[in-house]
Amino acid sequence: MEHNGILALFDIDGTLVNGARCHYQAFVESIKKFYGFEEDISGINYAGKTDPQILREVLELGGFTEEEIEASFKSCQKYMVHYYLKNIYKENVMALGGTAELLSELQKDKTLLGLVTGNLKPIAYAKLGKVGFDDFFPFGGFGSDSADRSQLVKKAVYLAKNEYNYEGDSIFVIGDTPRDVHAAQVYKLKTIAVATGSYSVEELENCGADHVLADLNDKEKVIKILNSQ
Ligand SMILES: [Mg+2]
Repeated sequence: MEHNGILALFDIDGTLVNGARCHYQAFVESIKKFYGFEEDISGINYAGKTDPQILREVLELGGFTEEEIEASFKSCQKYMVHYYLKNIYKENVMALGGTAELLSELQKDKTLLGLVTGNLKPIAYAKLGKVGFDDFFPFGGFGSDSADRSQLVKKAVYLAKNEYNYEGDSIFVIGDTPRDVHAAQVYKLKTIAVATGSYSVEELENCGADHVLADLNDKEKVIKILNSQ
């Protein structure tokens, strides 16, 4: 795939889309089915965490031992995907302002686009499919690859280099939480944080993001940043 030397790795929730009722419900239903646990899990801060990380945290809070968690951990995630795909029609995701225009423009410019998301891979693509964004992203690092977000960044960069002939060093991670920023910093990548999730511009500035934007509405500004390295 021909590209312009820039690699932009996007987070999904809070960055490209918001609202993920069905995804939340997939957690609730799978935990109920495999662990018989029906606690209200809405109080947990999910932002920037990977699906397996959230799942483990909920179960640990529920008092499950490591052995009990491990026994059904894989089946539980498999069921989450099954539940999500079956109920995708109920998903309420909406594209965040400016994202459709930005992605089209980046694609036109031949920027190489990838994902870094804590979502399990089939959930990520189904969710993006709801807003017509799935085809923009041929590869990525997903919650299915690791519970550790920095490993997802590593995976996405690895795939860019090994499967998409990416040889440049203008690599940006675009996300809405300090966790996105910190995962990218492990590999000294540039970061653009957007305050369209649950963190404010100020909070994102304080976490050390290279660039902080209120949203992705101003595509010229984003493109200027991507070309600034
Ligand atoms: Mg996010």
